[in-house]
Amino acid sequence: MHELSIAQSLLDIVVQEAARHGVERVVRVGIRLGAYSAVVPSALTFSFDLIKENTVAQEAELAIEEVPLAGRCQDCGQVLENMESPIVDCPACGSKKIELTQGRELTIAFIETDEEEGAG
Ligand SMILES: [Zn+2]
Repeated sequence: MHELSIAQSLLDIVVQEAARHGVERVVRVGIRLGAYSAVVPSALTFSFDLIKENTVAQEAELAIEEVPLAGRCQDCGQVLENMESPIVDCPACGSKKIELTQGRELTIAFIETDEEEGAG
């Protein structure tokens, strides 16, 4: 399962970061997940829940923010937002040279620990 190895690398980063900051309990991990990253959010959450036991993140939940596809035409500079597919023609000039500017992300946006709570 593709998501399992991704969840494992995310968990590794969370564990490393927690150790570096002396954090003992992570409560939430924010993930920015591109619409074109080929990762199914529910499968990623499921995998993360399976492997987080006995780590600092065992009570952590994933907060997945899905990032829509966006691109820019390399011929006329037209910006395309909320694209449904990475393969489209430029609506302004018809060019097929669309450069994806977002939508492939799979990054950790934030790691929330119980020590940082209190503001809300
Ligand atoms: Zn164009």
